[in-house]
Amino acid sequence: MRAYNFAAGPSMLPESVLQIIKNDTFNWRDTGVSVMEIGHRTKIFQDLLSNLQDKIRTLMDIPPNYEILFAHGGAQGQFSAIPMHLTRDNKSADYLVTGTWSKKAAACARAYANVNIAAEGDIYGIPEKSAWNLSDDASYVYYCHNETIHGIEFKTIPEVNGKPLVADITSCILSYDIDVSKFGILFASAQKNLGIAGVTLIIIREDLLGKALDITPNIWNYKLLAENKSSINTVPVFPIYVMDLMVDWVISQGGVTKLGVINHRKAEKLYNYIDSSDFYTNNVKKEYRSTINIPFLLRDESLLPKFLEEANKKISKMSKSSNH
Ligand code: PMP
Repeated sequence: MRAYNFAAGPSMLPESVLQIIKNDTFNWRDTGVSVMEIGHRTKIFQDLLSNLQDKIRTLMDIPPNYEILFAHGGAQGQFSAIPMHLTRDNKSADYLVTGTWSKKAAACARAYANVNIAAEGDIYGIPEKSAWNLSDDASYVYYCHNETIHGIEFKTIPEVNGKPLVADITSCILSYDIDVSKFGILFASAQKNLGIAGVTLIIIREDLLGKALDITPNIWNYKLLAENKSSINTVPVFPIYVMDLMVDWVISQGGVTKLGVINHRKAEKLYNYIDSSDFYTNNVKKEYRSTINIPFLLRDESLLPKFLEEANKKISKMSKSSNH
């Protein structure tokens, strides 16, 4: 018996993907070994890696002047890698802080950059563009397209006066179309829409390669990653293999545009239900509500302990019955 896991991440994998993983566990593609044991420099795995890059390029319509890289360290690793790459000539950087993840990213960047918080939102949404304080000399502008925890989403890509725009798309990648050509760097860790934790996808415009600070660890150096087919050290083969299966699943669903239509429809249904309920509520302003993460609160907060207690009882009941 499978439970519904509504957590943002690590999140559910489609059952068809789990079945393939199960079948491949002992003998992957007639190699006689498990995919978990396969050497990352074998031709069969390197082919998977380059085919995966091609599939992602097609799915996301990534222009030819962008590199697609895979790195260790999760999204939070990129919170440091990004300022390490974009502050060589100019230390100032603008951050739009709209929730937990952009706040953490700005805090990490302070070790390498002079961070200007150009806008700071609250739990209800994002400040109007007219209130943003973008600096003239910023070497890049950073934001998080979908703030997972508070369920706050940018509905359009921010206009940032030609500065390289960097976005964390960990929780919305492959969920709807994103115009990659508007960005300098996009990144997403895998455990939400791209499979399981252990690998991070980076999409970077070529002109931003080769600018790393000397202190940048090799394993995060974008130019080295590009030159070495993202295989500088031992590649996390299993998360990349699962990412490949997830990408195939997205293709089988009709691609990103189609998933976007489905996701918008699902979100509308759920928000309509929450808004019409006298029990649940969502306090994010309608124009910033996330399509992907839909947090709900109780209208009567005093019921929360009871609600959690009952929910926990259900969970333990479920895990007991799934043991049989
Ligand atoms: N950014 C966003 C938008 C996230 O949702 C998360 C994970 N919840 C992170 C960053 C952090 O990801 P990681 O654990 O891979 O560092």
